[in-house]
Amino acid sequence: MKVIHSISELKETLCASRREGKTVGLVPTMGALHDGHASLVKRSVAENDVTVVSIFLNPTQFNDPKDLERYPRTLDADCALLEACGAQIAFAPSVKEVYPEPDTRVFSYPPTDSVMEGAFRPGHFNGVCQIVSKLFAYVEPDKAYFGEKDYQQICVIRRMVDDLGLGLEIVACPVVREESGLARSSRNTLLTEQERGIAANIYRVLKESCHLVAGVQAVHDFVVTKINAVPGLEVQYFSIVDGNTLADIKDWKDSESVVGCITVFCGSTPIRLIDHIRYK
Ligand code: AMP
Repeated sequence: MKVIHSISELKETLCASRREGKTVGLVPTMGALHDGHASLVKRSVAENDVTVVSIFLNPTQFNDPKDLERYPRTLDADCALLEACGAQIAFAPSVKEVYPEPDTRVFSYPPTDSVMEGAFRPGHFNGVCQIVSKLFAYVEPDKAYFGEKDYQQICVIRRMVDDLGLGLEIVACPVVREESGLARSSRNTLLTEQERGIAANIYRVLKESCHLVAGVQAVHDFVVTKINAVPGLEVQYFSIVDGNTLADIKDWKDSESVVGCITVFCGSTPIRLIDHIRYK
């Protein structure tokens, strides 16, 4: 596997691959890689001739400087994992390489980027669109792989791809979970062993809510009440929304595709955890 730091070297390498008629898959990540990322990389390796995995802790998508500061950084281990997954290129540029000048572009795709994470993390999805659009321009992938772990992010990126008329396929990959049901996340390493146990209640309650025969509001209240009843957990929001537009749903009949998206504070630091469940 090649580890590339500069955009020009990346472009040259991919140009040569494309001349040979090879297809290219891109997996954007922020590093601190785990099994969740590995599942995306393996899928790309299976479906493309060349897989590029970007490892870039993108400052423009962090609205909280403390979150960026404490984000785990594990480049050597990341490269070892990518090599084992069969990726051909790890692209790990510096902040200066990606942002030689401040990025002043503004992306706006409401309601996908204005609700939930968009409302509680102002500027977050603008930063996501800034980095992902740059990566798409460097790599020009045939397919790009994203995890449903960040469900809202996929909806925003699909809108951006349509808006910019980019002819690539967005592949959504299922959430990889720990044995307890907790969604795998780079931020999980910031939890204590006890907090990890507590955090497992989030998905347990979400799954339980699927079996309720009740209206949308009652299911919403059930989830919030049950999770808030667990010491160490505090729901920031739980929204039951259309699975594509992310507009609020009042009645199960309002949409063919319905998901519940949740963000929960866990522990004393606290660590912010996101998850979701599909109702239909
Ligand atoms: P991140 O490094 O957190 O930006 O994640 C990079 C990509 O990996 C994103 O598309 C995430 O949605 C995806 N990802 C992270 N965790 C998981 C997981 N547990 N299961 C599936 N995909 C994941």
